[in-house]
Amino acid sequence: MKNEIQKNEIIDPVTKTGKVHLTQKESYNALLSGNREWVNARLKDDPEYFKKLSKGQSPEVLWIGCSDSRVPANEVTNTKPGEVFVHRNIANVCAHSDMNMLSVLDYAVNVLKVKHIIVAGHYNCGGVAAALSNKQFGLIDNWLRHIKDVYRLHSHELDRITDQEHKINRLVELNVVEQAYNLCKTTIIQNAWKERDDLEVHGWVVDINTGLVKDLKVTNNDSQNLGYVYELEMEAVAAH
Ligand SMILES: [Zn+2]
Repeated sequence: MKNEIQKNEIIDPVTKTGKVHLTQKESYNALLSGNREWVNARLKDDPEYFKKLSKGQSPEVLWIGCSDSRVPANEVTNTKPGEVFVHRNIANVCAHSDMNMLSVLDYAVNVLKVKHIIVAGHYNCGGVAAALSNKQFGLIDNWLRHIKDVYRLHSHELDRITDQEHKINRLVELNVVEQAYNLCKTTIIQNAWKERDDLEVHGWVVDINTGLVKDLKVTNNDSQNLGYVYELEMEAVAAH
């Protein structure tokens, strides 16, 4: 059990939080003992829990969020395993060339038939803050470029904000708006909208300081809201 692991009472020299220091082996074993505690708790509530869970999934929600460890989809929405299909990456980017994201989106929309797709950013996002800086961080610079492009689209507004934290958090919001818009531009979403009227794309920001979600009110369920150049016709045609 987690509590039985011998711990060395050392204040973390970096964070000075007093967080209990575990050895390499202890921190690994804590995950396995944590799993057993979780299984026992579920079985205590319902002896058939895993039997039921193993039968399949029919989630109504696709969550596309940031990889940040502080914004787990199920905890934030108080949902259970089986209720939310999840894709996460640094700064919840939805790039139309990302086969990983597109595969998740296609499966969620066309097989699971989810009703809600939520692009969920969060305030104090390290990825967005990094995109706003001029430093090089390595390979990730290529990924963060998508967010720099969002900045350029909204530079008239963002350039006027002098407080850096305010600027980062406004870019967090605008990034969610643009990434949700990017989803709507895909053939996957537009073809689904032609077939059914119960699919909505939403934009959220989670406030880590309070835990509360801010709905950015950019919900979309119609190709006609996309603007002429992005609205696609029904049939695919061969390129000339
Ligand atoms: Zn983040």
